[in-house]
Amino acid sequence: MKTIKDLDIDGKCVFIRCDFNVPKDEFENITDDRRIRAALQTIRYCIDRGCRVILGSHFERPEAGIFEEKYSLGTVNRRLDILLKIKNRLLFDDSKTGGVVTPKAKELAASLEAGDVLLLENLRFDAGETINDPAFAKELADLCDIYINDAFGACHRKHASIHAIADYFDTESKAAGFLLAKEVSFFSKVLDNPTRPFVAVVGGSKVSGKLQALNKLIDKVDKIIIGGGMAFTFLKAMGYEIGNSLVENDLLDEANSIMAKAHEKKVKFYLPVDLVVAPEFSENTTVKYLPTQEIPVGWMGLDIGPASTRLFREVLNDAQTIIWNGPMGVYEMDKFAKGSTKMSHYIAETHATTIVGGGDTADVAARAGDVDEMTFVSTGGGASLKLIEGEKLPGIEALE
Ligand code: AMP
Repeated sequence: MKTIKDLDIDGKCVFIRCDFNVPKDEFENITDDRRIRAALQTIRYCIDRGCRVILGSHFERPEAGIFEEKYSLGTVNRRLDILLKIKNRLLFDDSKTGGVVTPKAKELAASLEAGDVLLLENLRFDAGETINDPAFAKELADLCDIYINDAFGACHRKHASIHAIADYFDTESKAAGFLLAKEVSFFSKVLDNPTRPFVAVVGGSKVSGKLQALNKLIDKVDKIIIGGGMAFTFLKAMGYEIGNSLVENDLLDEANSIMAKAHEKKVKFYLPVDLVVAPEFSENTTVKYLPTQEIPVGWMGLDIGPASTRLFREVLNDAQTIIWNGPMGVYEMDKFAKGSTKMSHYIAETHATTIVGGGDTADVAARAGDVDEMTFVSTGGGASLKLIEGEKLPGIEALE
């Protein structure tokens, strides 16, 4: 895969597909701008080479073609302005008409001078984006000379600005940005050639979403720790009473075969030994700390308990490589966040190479204040899972 450094971009017009899909609170404040900051390196590299830069990103899931303020990249534009520190040289299509390559956007693109940056509106304001429409891809491609994909978090999607657009550029005019290249090389280095012991910590809501990743990981790791909602499908498969905990009954056989595969490959397999249980899925409810064997009928496990975190800390003790994907409990509620927070601290404290798969897991590490202590925090949850599964990402394929 070529990276931006392999191309001659000096003075050219460069379109950079970024992933500015950042979380916001109810007052429209950006609560975590890591994805914006992660894109700066590639943007500055282009500015320093006298390029005219056009940035595109999606933001959440707007209805195609209809402008809605809450899906606008206006807030991102303001944050980008602060971070890039290029006052009056960051342009933005504020016509609020819906669509992406609007007459105003074309006018702004034509007016760019060396070092200027134009941010287009939410790419999903055009119906063509999510259906990988070649016509929309061509409209974007016609704006520029060079195509750079730096949107790791969106690379697992076959969308026009990720996939179809690459057809309009030859190998000398398309490449990966620094962030995309870093994400891919980190994951492949760790998965292909890990320093051992290699431990995977997997949590989150469901086994189904991570089934393939679990199967792949068992082929590679020495130990695997399972927490979060997905643990209950394994516990039920082992014959435990799990009350009303989250479970996927159609995957009990699958859970058994994963455990059998782990046994066969001599991969140590750890499940929670105790839990924080509650009679309902709510912050304002009574909770009990109980051994896994004692979940009362009708109650549900919403976090791992203190004995599990201590056990898992022991398991992590000698790790040289740790890959972590998925929270240990319903971390969004304070009452059920402790297991995830503690695991984050323990992972951060080790001397291992630590890789945190994006999305919720990165959010846990950020809330726990551990991001700086991790070796690498991925900006893409779904995309990093696909890399673990060993799948080719459409965005990367398109660059090859
Ligand atoms: P995922 O997207 O599969 O990584 O799942 C993340 C979600 O799993 C978070 O929103 C957590 O609240 C949720 N989760 C973690 N543990 C549990 C649990 N024990 N019961 C229900 N949901 C859980």
